[in-house]
Amino acid sequence: MIPLLLSAEAEADAPFVTRLRATGTSMHSADAILVESDALGATFAGKSGLFAIDGATADDLDGDVVLVRPQARRLERLLRSGSPHNTLLVTERCDQLCVMCSQPPKKTHDDRFDLLEQACLLAEPDMLIGISGGEPTLYKDQLLGMVERVLTARPDLSFHILTNAQHFDADDISRLRASIYRQVSWGIPLYAAEPALHDEIVGKRGAFARLEEGFAHLIMAGARVELRTVLVTPNHHALPDLARYVAARLQFVEAWSIMQLENIGFAKGRWSNLYVDHRTDFRPIGMALTHATLHNVRAQLFNFPRCTVPADFRNYAIASISDWKRKFASACDECREQSQCSGFFEWHPSDHAEICVEPL
Ligand code: SF4
Repeated sequence: MIPLLLSAEAEADAPFVTRLRATGTSMHSADAILVESDALGATFAGKSGLFAIDGATADDLDGDVVLVRPQARRLERLLRSGSPHNTLLVTERCDQLCVMCSQPPKKTHDDRFDLLEQACLLAEPDMLIGISGGEPTLYKDQLLGMVERVLTARPDLSFHILTNAQHFDADDISRLRASIYRQVSWGIPLYAAEPALHDEIVGKRGAFARLEEGFAHLIMAGARVELRTVLVTPNHHALPDLARYVAARLQFVEAWSIMQLENIGFAKGRWSNLYVDHRTDFRPIGMALTHATLHNVRAQLFNFPRCTVPADFRNYAIASISDWKRKFASACDECREQSQCSGFFEWHPSDHAEICVEPL
């Protein structure tokens, strides 16, 4: 697992954002330049003074955009150089309580929008930046303001924002119609076509009805949407119905991602009740994929190791897990399809991963 949080000691008093330069010279006034390094860490100097980082080499860190928090003696690698998997957490608050939530919400909110905006402005050219929470649109005005300012200054960038779409209203339509939002896609969870089942999974009464309103506003705005459905026992056999709903009502989406469960957060304690071993009953998933495809909805499988998917549906299974939290079983070394495969989450039970795989 690639560490995103590192120990750091800094001269500064307040948190600051900087881009680390281990080679060459400064390209920007916010860059920090390498002073010295060894196998255990590196020391950099920038306009906020000296700071020393433990647990990564200067080569590992070169080009990363980081947030240094002197009081906490921590450093967050917000945007890792050369990685296509950079996601910024804007809040840990949420107004839903999904049964399988991988990052259970907190009541407190640490407002870091200013710092995250500075980080985005230092991103590598053409970077796609993910935004997640919690629920980012609980701070909708701050979120949209940040996105608009960043994309105005850096039109080469784009954003993918995870949201439960509970907080869009008619007043947002004209704002979201602006051309700048063609560089924004919204990842929106939908778990069932049956309102009561969706509401039960997200732990909020009326969520499905509110979500339908959100979709209506997004359609009116011409927004780009990716639907996300996490596979859990309660919706496994409801997937064909959901496919019919998506094909009939939400054909405007760019993709529909059916996602295997993560063994973390709430799902960890409920694993035996929620996890569907798709190897033993793929039929509802296959029916959903087929129906979606026949109706021109681009369906895809996230977090499904390719060898665990029937051959007829294997091309739906894509390498979806971010590099920093992905692992493979030992037998995967001999697989010809590893580069196309999601593998497993770092926190997936290793004994299960080892018995699942059949190298292709
Ligand atoms: S053997 Fe490993 S790399 Fe190959 S498809 Fe299975 S999980 Fe993926």
